[in-house]
Amino acid sequence: MNKQELEKIKQKALSEHIPIIMDDTLEVVDKLLTEIRPARILEIGTAVGYSAICFSEYLQSDGKIDTIERDEERVAEAKINIEKVGVSDKINIYQGDAVEILPSLNEKYDVVFIDAAKGKYPFFLKEALRMIKPNGPILADNILYKGYVMSDYNKHKQRTAVRNLREYVKEVTENPNIETEILEVGDGLAISKIKTV
Ligand code: SAH
Ligand code: MG
Repeated sequence: MNKQELEKIKQKALSEHIPIIMDDTLEVVDKLLTEIRPARILEIGTAVGYSAICFSEYLQSDGKIDTIERDEERVAEAKINIEKVGVSDKINIYQGDAVEILPSLNEKYDVVFIDAAKGKYPFFLKEALRMIKPNGPILADNILYKGYVMSDYNKHKQRTAVRNLREYVKEVTENPNIETEILEVGDGLAISKIKTV
């Protein structure tokens, strides 16, 4: 992997205010992926490919990432970035709305990373639970959304996003079959696993 190209991609994304994974969140995910050595990762929300490229380093030698992005321009840029870094053989991009694409997938994944429309998190969770392998973590980025989720925030603007993120947190913490850790790294990261008996 070309680390110099990766750094350029990161700096360009930051300068354009594209919400790429934050460094402290990435550190946590890196550790997890080091332990798991996944064969298959599903990512919802590619943006310009930064997180997928970072994750690809931890795949098994023949491992693959499926990642979904609805914005056509971002998909185009992600493809160029993935090529530049030299990991095209490890990352497959589905272009389109994850709400439509997810139900058409029938794979099993070692890790699912949710990082797209906050208002759709409960739906993404349902699909992730359907496709996650036993013991695999489902990661949800931005789960604390600037602190709005755990506060009494109720402004109109982000109300739907906040309501749906709260619903996600409620489900993963109250469902007796799911075990969840919520970390205050970056914009909040939820790590959930289906309990095994
Ligand atoms: N994971 C990336 C950042 C993703 S930002 C990284 O860390 O590098 C979130 C992305 O999700 C945006 O590019 C947005 O266009 C995309 N997105 C939002 N809702 C979506 C949906 N319903 N289906 C597919 N992509 C979506
Ligand atoms: Mg994010």
